[in-house]
Amino acid sequence: MFSLTRDPIVPPVLAAAGAGGFVAFDGKVRHDHAGRTVVALDYEAFDELVLAEGRALLAEATAQFGLLEARCVHRVGRLAVGDTAVWIGVAAPHRREAFEACEWILDQLKRRVPIWKKEHFADGDSGWIGSDVTPGEAPVTEENFYSRQIRLNEVGAAGQAKLEAARVLVVGAGGLGCAAIPYLAAAGVGTLGLCDFDRVEATNLHRQVLFAARDVGKPKAALAARFAQRLNPFIAVRAHGARLTAESAPGLFQHYDLVLDCTDNFATKFLLNDTAVAMNKPLVQASLYQFEGQLHLYDPAKAGGCLRCVWPEIPPEGCVGSCAEAGVLGVVPGVFGALQAGEAIKFLLGLGEPLSDAVLLFDLRTLATTRIKRAANPHCPVCGDGAPPTEIDLDPFAPGRDFSRWTVVDLREDHEPRPLVELGSTPWRHQPLSRAAEWLAALDREQPHLFVCGRGLRSGNFARRLRREGWPHAYSLAGGVDLALKARPRSA
Ligand SMILES: [Zn+2]
Repeated sequence: MFSLTRDPIVPPVLAAAGAGGFVAFDGKVRHDHAGRTVVALDYEAFDELVLAEGRALLAEATAQFGLLEARCVHRVGRLAVGDTAVWIGVAAPHRREAFEACEWILDQLKRRVPIWKKEHFADGDSGWIGSDVTPGEAPVTEENFYSRQIRLNEVGAAGQAKLEAARVLVVGAGGLGCAAIPYLAAAGVGTLGLCDFDRVEATNLHRQVLFAARDVGKPKAALAARFAQRLNPFIAVRAHGARLTAESAPGLFQHYDLVLDCTDNFATKFLLNDTAVAMNKPLVQASLYQFEGQLHLYDPAKAGGCLRCVWPEIPPEGCVGSCAEAGVLGVVPGVFGALQAGEAIKFLLGLGEPLSDAVLLFDLRTLATTRIKRAANPHCPVCGDGAPPTEIDLDPFAPGRDFSRWTVVDLREDHEPRPLVELGSTPWRHQPLSRAAEWLAALDREQPHLFVCGRGLRSGNFARRLRREGWPHAYSLAGGVDLALKARPRSA
């Protein structure tokens, strides 16, 4: 039996009848690592994958050593020095098998089971440590890992530090993601989030090259995260295995600076686009068809516009064939996923000419590349004024406006400064946009709501989204609180 626990480990009692030997191993957090004083440890695991791998491992041990019983408990979360991190107990007919099996299980556990630890040192430093490589131990150091990249004048130590500080979310660990993820991890993107709710299927394997035949049926996010963490133990990798929805996307986006759209369906592409615009996050999108594909970057700071500038409405699924229907050559997502990683790295480093005002088309059959200029559509329903501005962007200070029945909803996040504007006795509720999934259902969509944020971008996009979803009285404070405070000093 294999289990994970967030609480202190209480060694289970082995009660196998007929056992001649019981052996237990109690692994504790050491107070030093490679000569440095450790004060605490964080263990993090992808429960589903760890449990599956852990159970498989114990079953193998039982068969291999003829065990009567085998148990392993691993702790996750924050541990102090001296805490038990892992406990293994086996019972066998004879002591020799019991000793050997216990050690074999421990070795295999370290090698195969994706549990990562972050060591916190007495000097304030900390670092994530992959399951099979320990940073700082020869031959792999951060210096030699990144040395060929740092040698580039355009990168250098300063560029590497920018990458290390960056937080990038990859949505979709399919053909595109499988190409983008290794390059982002290897480049040293400090925090890499991998979001996919899917499991590996046999039909994925010709293009999703992070997965092997034996992975069929296993969760993609966790597998890709394990790959990335093994490749680069110096970065933090997070797996997000839940399906992305309009409610959950803002909460996930808020933890990242840049997002890669590596998905293959219109609904998710538009969801990612709308969320990126609403939250002012750059988004690198790619889409594929058989032997060709296209690539573009949405940059909130540039005038290139977003996906809905070109396609205001989501095209019906099936109007362009998906990989399943139309087929795709495996190398095509490989090319485009790598290009997406390249655009992300360029953006983070401020390097070259990002695709923020163009679409790149590439056809593998002819190797023809076309770069088409694009510009924001001023009437885009998401990033423009597609909904007439007076319907959404409201001036609450216009003479004669009565706000007594209204609710003001402040979408700014907890960490932002939140100066307020005086709107008489109108109730003012603080509901961060990133947690919209939690509070939105409690609001009455028939009542008038004025959404506010710092500059009016997030609130405008949010109000537009609600209008599309059938909220007739969703409004946004034009220019946000910042402009209101500047234009109209606090007045009752
Ligand atoms: Zn747009």
